[in-house]
Amino acid sequence: MRVVITGAAGFLASHLTDRFLAAGDQVCGIDNFLTGRPDNLAHLKANSAFTFMEHDVSTPFDVSGPVDGVLHFASAASPPDYQQYPIETLLVGSEGTRNALELARRNSARFFLASTSEVYGDPQVHPQPETYWGYVNSIGPRSMYDEAKRFAEAMTMAYHRTHGVDTRIVRIFNTYGPRMRPGDGRVVSNFLVQALRGEPLTVYGDGSQTRSFCYVSDEVEGIYRLFNSSRTLPTNIGNPIEFTMLELAEQVLAVTGSASKIVHHELPGDDPKVRQPDITVAREVLGWEPKVALRQGLELSLPYFRREVLG
Ligand code: UDP
Repeated sequence: MRVVITGAAGFLASHLTDRFLAAGDQVCGIDNFLTGRPDNLAHLKANSAFTFMEHDVSTPFDVSGPVDGVLHFASAASPPDYQQYPIETLLVGSEGTRNALELARRNSARFFLASTSEVYGDPQVHPQPETYWGYVNSIGPRSMYDEAKRFAEAMTMAYHRTHGVDTRIVRIFNTYGPRMRPGDGRVVSNFLVQALRGEPLTVYGDGSQTRSFCYVSDEVEGIYRLFNSSRTLPTNIGNPIEFTMLELAEQVLAVTGSASKIVHHELPGDDPKVRQPDITVAREVLGWEPKVALRQGLELSLPYFRREVLG
């Protein structure tokens, strides 16, 4: 099989690229390096099963040779990143999704959309099952990402229903691990970098807001299984064990052995108060559930962040 992965130089899609290559598939990666990094693919330079195209998928593109799958992962994903690039984020979710769907349609290939727990917004239902429609501010500081992904889901279902494209949609919940950009502004990378530098950990608000953190190997396995399944409806893939940001800060301090203090900064606008995936569908349909606990995942991430921060 040969698959095209957009956003392949990003944190998550670079691990997914490795997963397909390990299974014996061929991968064509595409990225414009807006938030992705060449370093994430450097280990594949000599791998003849991997090819790479530098391109912004918001503008039309084609891939020569056979294409059996198109996995659309290109997008800024960290709040500071998508807020710095709001129009690019909206375009990669809209035009980018359409261009990737067209590639799949032309090749009769399977299409896989990387969607997000952000489609649930600031959820009023907890935990979040796939049947929840969400609570999103269409003009707020997170709207460029949330609405782009909601549009991308709608476009994917439209291609499925109108053109019969074989589609999959994953809703990804907070994922962390090696290859995250240390400065990407997300909470796990921020806390690990701050702890390793002996700087204060910046907790936004009172730190009582919650997230459910999934280690990257678990997330990638769930995505790989969903791609190979026959389920076309959106599917949550995430770790359902929920933590407050203060609890996360304590775990990071324990894992790093850092003496950093905790400081509180202003809570950003529209920051979801809670988030936890209901993974009943993933358990039943894919036989999948996460294996790596937060403490263990932080320990597994530490060598990478230590190299990035301390050289
Ligand atoms: N957060 C924090 N300190 C930071 C960065 C983020 O307390 O240095 C909080 C943020 O306000 C949010 C949670 O951590 O409540 C997760 O933020 P992140 O940007 O990682 O992802 P989100 O789930 O909000 O997209």
